[in-house]
Amino acid sequence: MYGTVAIVGRPNVGKSTLFNRLVGKRMSIVDDTPGVTRDRIYSKAEWLGREFTLIDTGGIEPDTKDIILSQMRIQAQLAIDKADVIILVTDITSGVTSTDADVADMLQKSGKPIVLCVNKCDSIGELPADFYEFYNLGLGEPIAVSSVHGHGTGDLLDAVFSAMPEKSDEPEYPEDAVKVAVIGKPNAGKSSLINKIAGEERMIVSDIAGTTRDSVDTVIKRGDDTYVFIDTAGIRRKSKVNEQIEKYSVLRAYMAIERADVCVIMIDANEGFTEQDSKVAGYAHEQGKASVIAINKWDSIEKDGKTMQEFTKKLEVDFSFMSYAPFVFISALTGQRLDKLFELIKYTSEQNARRISTGTLNDLLAYATARVQPPSDKGKRLKLYYMTQASTKPPTFVIFCNKKDLFHYSYQRYIENRIRESFGLDGTPMKIIVRERGE
Ligand code: GDP
Ligand code: GDP
Repeated sequence: MYGTVAIVGRPNVGKSTLFNRLVGKRMSIVDDTPGVTRDRIYSKAEWLGREFTLIDTGGIEPDTKDIILSQMRIQAQLAIDKADVIILVTDITSGVTSTDADVADMLQKSGKPIVLCVNKCDSIGELPADFYEFYNLGLGEPIAVSSVHGHGTGDLLDAVFSAMPEKSDEPEYPEDAVKVAVIGKPNAGKSSLINKIAGEERMIVSDIAGTTRDSVDTVIKRGDDTYVFIDTAGIRRKSKVNEQIEKYSVLRAYMAIERADVCVIMIDANEGFTEQDSKVAGYAHEQGKASVIAINKWDSIEKDGKTMQEFTKKLEVDFSFMSYAPFVFISALTGQRLDKLFELIKYTSEQNARRISTGTLNDLLAYATARVQPPSDKGKRLKLYYMTQASTKPPTFVIFCNKKDLFHYSYQRYIENRIRESFGLDGTPMKIIVRERGE
């Protein structure tokens, strides 16, 4: 990963067009994971083999009745907080406006590297006369781009990468530290949980500032184990940029998930599962992270003997796309079952990093194919020759077969279930890659 790039600019200059252009094909690779609704404001992108994260701050519309400028200030602040390099997009057809100048000034004061994009330069080769006006923004050489046609985007990305800081100052932790992202809707109880943990544990190591200004991790020692709670600044003391802006909190969750080993998905027991929960949980799943689902505020629920069972039943449906994730009913307020929560965090992170020997896997394959015969089509039967584990985090298995087309999803699901039945892998997604022999 080569850092994070944020796009900033006035409405209608072409930010989202540029975003889609830079993200390119990746957007159209539709993941069929149920529960994943893609946000058009955040994506991985790639340039010359280097992968980076791209954010379109224009997609985050703070709920101010205010004029454009104050909106843009919030978006620019977000870019300053979250990005390694900022692309300021302007528009050749409107020239330099006072809002452009104002935002350029604000960005420049942050000290972050800025690349100036002059969009809608649609005709190749000739630069419009008023192009040179953009030097007046004091951000160095403007780059002429046509987001609609794609011209100039290569130059733009070259400039972005030459401005990218050499090494990110991502803090380092002990190798065996478990990195945890606590995610969930505003008011689910994330800050109460982190503060409870930080207050209760005797051996708090420290808060460590990360790459971006407002990202702080909380490091906690528990017995022999070290846990790093990621990006807790905004959680512990409510961040300035409004947490209530849904897209912003989703974005923030995405970035924390990427750095984590385990995601604690926090659900408010009084509210139940929501659309936003399905987005972030879907992202954790897609990124191959272990997950624990914590149902918080359990103290405030009136219970009879069946309440927990009923909750579990309902949540099993909501989270059916990640049925491997365990539930735990907690209270951040009283500390109820925090021991259990830590136990699950540790256990699921171990499962996420699990390695299973090739011999054991092939015994399983032999057993599974003997028990339920592989499917066949037009007289040709699927043969599974060999299985091996290619990588961990998440556990990824490669299966070699005679004909991929015959290896239907349902039979893959069957094999996956046999793997889970034999080896557990609780709390972690797993991947199966199918190869034809000789491939
Ligand atoms: P945003 O509000 O900054 O995200 O702007 P959009 O990406 O929604 O674009 C605003 C309008 O400008 C749309 O009608 C786009 O089709 C148009 N536009 C974007 N990029 C270009 C470009 O490179 N050339 C031209 N001619 N129009 C563009
Ligand atoms: P955040 O926005 O996710 O960080 O949520 P907060 O930690 O700020 O909690 C939101 C509200 O829920 C606060 O009023 C908390 O006191 C309350 N709250 C948090 N955890 C619990 C809990 O376990 N039980 C009860 N009854 N209230 C809680």
